[in-house]
Amino acid sequence: MKPVYGTVYLVGAGPGAPDLLTLRAAEILKRADVVFHDALVHPDTLLLAQNAEKIAVGKRCGKQSTAQRFINKRLVDAARKFNTVVRLKGGDPMLFGRAQEEIAALRAAGIEHEVVPGVTAALAASAGLGISLTQRGLSRNVVFVTARVGVSEADHDWAASAAAADTAIIYMGIGQAALIAAMLAARGVPPATPAVVVENASLPQERRFPLVLADLPHIAELGIAGPALIMLGKVFAAAKKVSIATASGALAALS
Ligand code: SAH
Repeated sequence: MKPVYGTVYLVGAGPGAPDLLTLRAAEILKRADVVFHDALVHPDTLLLAQNAEKIAVGKRCGKQSTAQRFINKRLVDAARKFNTVVRLKGGDPMLFGRAQEEIAALRAAGIEHEVVPGVTAALAASAGLGISLTQRGLSRNVVFVTARVGVSEADHDWAASAAAADTAIIYMGIGQAALIAAMLAARGVPPATPAVVVENASLPQERRFPLVLADLPHIAELGIAGPALIMLGKVFAAAKKVSIATASGALAALS
């Protein structure tokens, strides 16, 4: 007889604020037996999983994290033991979250799985700024891009797609901001291109720094410790008006 396995849900936890979670995600968390979560997930979100064992599986730039292969194996093992297994990921699970590797492992093991989308960081940052990423007349497209390339990945010309976009949102870029700025400049992006760095989007400690491309090499001075995005494009020229109050000190340090 075929053994009965549980279902693994790859769930988006949203960008940070615990109430930016879908009702579907909340319902699944409520009945979860075990939750494997990213380091960035808010503690209040985890509280929704009232009956579940919660297991942190890392994933925070530069800090210790669990090897992806090991996470894949743990999901498969958990589905053999439990009914409802949740893999809870920051933002949307399918964006820069290695969901595909987990899906492949679950498929290979014949385990039922389902993806529950979440609000990605870029959309929370756009909301906080009050700036549309596709503002009529300025931007007809937006790219979500990362400059990070995994060890076994083929080289990718990420800068070309960012340079070609009206609006570019760069994930996981803070540690490499100088390199990112140089590569974009080499692709012909003007130094005065409006940019915003948004840290901790959707959380009470959210900070927004309106800049231009040429400022990016200096962003270490901003003391960014939380997750942050680099956002580039004409639409962000408006950022000065809405966020100068919170960012003015840091901007002075930059100029
Ligand atoms: N799946 C996630 C992204 C994971 S990659 C999503 O859809 O949002 C991790 C990167 O996301 C971080 O390095 C940072 O660039 C960005 N990020 C995640 N949460 C963020 C937040 N609250 N504010 C700003 N950037 C965030």
